[in-house]
Amino acid sequence: MPVEPPSVIIIGGGISGLTAAYKLQQAGYSVTILERSERVGGAMYTHLEDGWLAEFGPNTILETNSKIKSLVTELGLDEEKVYSNSVSSNRFIVKNAKLLSLPKSLLSFLSSSLFNWKSKLKILREPFVPKWQNQYEESLSEFVLRRLGKNFLDYAVNPFVSGVYAGDPEKLSVKHALPKLYQLEQDYGSLIKGQVKKAKLAANEDEIPKNKARMFSFKGGMKVLPETIASNLKNSIEFDAKVEQVQKMNGEWEIKFVQNDESKTLKAENLIYAGTGHQLANCKIINTEEIDLSFGSEIEYPPVSVLTLGYHQDQIQHALNGFGVLIPQVENLQILGALFNSSLFPERAPKSHVVLTVFMGGARQPEFALMSEDKRLEIAVKNLGILLGISGSPAFVFHKQWTKAIPQFNMGYGKIKSKFQHLEKDNIGLYFTGNYRDGISVADTILHAMKTAELIKSTNNIN
Ligand SMILES: Cc1cc2nc3c(=O)[nH]c(=O)nc-3n(C[C@H](O)[C@H](O)[C@H](O)COP(=O)(O)OP(=O)(O)OC[C@H]3O[C@@H](n4cnc5c(N)ncnc54)[C@H](O)[C@@H]3O)c2cc1C
Repeated sequence: MPVEPPSVIIIGGGISGLTAAYKLQQAGYSVTILERSERVGGAMYTHLEDGWLAEFGPNTILETNSKIKSLVTELGLDEEKVYSNSVSSNRFIVKNAKLLSLPKSLLSFLSSSLFNWKSKLKILREPFVPKWQNQYEESLSEFVLRRLGKNFLDYAVNPFVSGVYAGDPEKLSVKHALPKLYQLEQDYGSLIKGQVKKAKLAANEDEIPKNKARMFSFKGGMKVLPETIASNLKNSIEFDAKVEQVQKMNGEWEIKFVQNDESKTLKAENLIYAGTGHQLANCKIINTEEIDLSFGSEIEYPPVSVLTLGYHQDQIQHALNGFGVLIPQVENLQILGALFNSSLFPERAPKSHVVLTVFMGGARQPEFALMSEDKRLEIAVKNLGILLGISGSPAFVFHKQWTKAIPQFNMGYGKIKSKFQHLEKDNIGLYFTGNYRDGISVADTILHAMKTAELIKSTNNIN
């Protein structure tokens, strides 16, 4: 008698659900993805129009692990992959309405007008600041104030976390939002000493150290990755699938969902929830009794507005010779920052034109992300105009508004993380993957999805 392959149903067809599906299919699983929208990719989606390229969410992936590189190669995407231009190592920070380069060396740090002398001395004394011994969980801003001072918090860390998390350092937990930074103090007693000592150690297997990791995208934009994984999945992806209820019956998960007004049921031994963390609160999963998933609504997802603007290059005075510009909160502007997309990757705009992506809102100014499209455009054009010396109107405009953008690993996030671990331990065959688990970047979500696939295989004794 032929043996039935083990089965898995995955709720959510973003990059995490797709990666887990792909890895499990390779191991012989029969996989079905239930996606509530009409496309794959979730936050990873690209709009192409008359030679302009606009991303809905991520613009770059950091190749922090050789498993990510191998995945791209396995999918046959090496020719399609584009690494960012070397100019992307320049980052600008706004101070007094001017763009200043973020220093890249000790010498440029000492001569930079981004930080005052008091702050430079505080940073040079960082190795002598005692290690935090208290049980109390520190916010990122408390941690940075203690070790590096206010000027560094205002002009380096505050803009950095608004660029990564669209977050607020007063709410983010240093332990959960920037675990590697936190661990440097734990392991070496100092961030500077830790950086120097760690650089001499061999990186973990597969890991590519952040200073060597390269950034990439694809010629056709970010959506190429999820769409290629989806085209490699033999079994079905069910679109417009609204999951109503999941119940464990006779050792299998029975999933009831509605598709095109039709009620449907699927069964599988394994269930992966790869939807968004906040949506979890609306899911009904019953094992012997209903599982309490209400904690999903405790995860903060601030709104973010993404506005892609195209200009003729002659309209812009600034050379756009960098990755982009970030705006410290103390500068009191109305945008979080902007990416210089055409400087990063080729063919993002028609000939002689450039394209920029402006981010607004986030945890620090949520109200700006929720304004009308006209108002957001007016604000973005005005703020960018001042910073980059832009004249005239944009030749191309593309709006994407995320009312719930990125999960915030705020103070107390450890409790949320351990809830997921307990749910997986207490409910055989139930798994959770996504950017709310081990990190919000595309790289972190891919790696967590791969880890989840490995966990399922080892639980099922499959190599
Ligand atoms: C504006 C923005 C910019 C970003 N920039 C970067 C960047 O430059 N670099 C980087 O590395 N990362 C970036 N990120 C983060 C990164 O894009 C995301 O963390 C990652 O793509 C999340 O993938 P995911 O699969 O976990 O979730 P998602 O992409 O959110 O996918 C979840 C999927 O599940 C579906 N779903 C949800 N609930 C259900 C349900 N109940 N039933 C069925 N389907 C469901 C959704 O429709 C969606 O398709 C950015 C994110 C945003 C929003």
